[in-house]
Amino acid sequence: MKLKLDLHVHTNASGDSLIRLDEALIEAKVKGLNGLALTEHEAPSKVRGFMRGVLIIPGLEVNTPIGHVLVLGADQWRLKPGLKHIQIVLEEAKRLGAVTVLAHPFPRTLIPSFTLQIRQSGLDAIEALNSGTILFPISSRVNIIVSLKFNIPMTAGSDSHIPRTIGYAYTVVETSSTGMEDILESIRKGLTEVYGKPSGLKAKLEKKIHGKKFEQFSPL
Ligand SMILES: [Zn+2]
Ligand SMILES: [Zn+2]
Repeated sequence: MKLKLDLHVHTNASGDSLIRLDEALIEAKVKGLNGLALTEHEAPSKVRGFMRGVLIIPGLEVNTPIGHVLVLGADQWRLKPGLKHIQIVLEEAKRLGAVTVLAHPFPRTLIPSFTLQIRQSGLDAIEALNSGTILFPISSRVNIIVSLKFNIPMTAGSDSHIPRTIGYAYTVVETSSTGMEDILESIRKGLTEVYGKPSGLKAKLEKKIHGKKFEQFSPL
């Protein structure tokens, strides 16, 4: 079967997003997605499995010297927030049976030595399409070329921080079941197709305004 999944979404658990979980579920249904990966900043989403018919893959987005890394399929995480060596992140992800994806790798994918480093590091995939990326058509094209040339599996995600951009980019995963393990294994094997469009400048501005609002309401 083929599943249509937006593999990069931030809910309000991320701090800089105002998307509530119920809004994310509605948006996923409206956009015809089978599921979402909730990739919260630095701490994993606690939600997993089917909710109102939408498959939720828990995960997080962490900061490493080679860029942001999405950890898909993790609902626990022992590392503290902050910059972490890539190998430490990969080890923790492996312990949890999670998949690691280098998020929005452009423009570094233009550098041959960097793409070699991606392969050698042991990362499972690169995020070829990210709706929040500037120069979306060029960045997507370069990332896809690099992925095909170096045989690195691809994913796509909207990197949404506001509800309406959910599903702007999505990954079609060919999987034997809707079980998490099967989906993650399919991503590792590169049984993916990527689709998407940019979220645009307006979405960036909306995110900024929402981010500010959030800070005002935050108990901190
Ligand atoms: Zn990021
Ligand atoms: Zn993100």
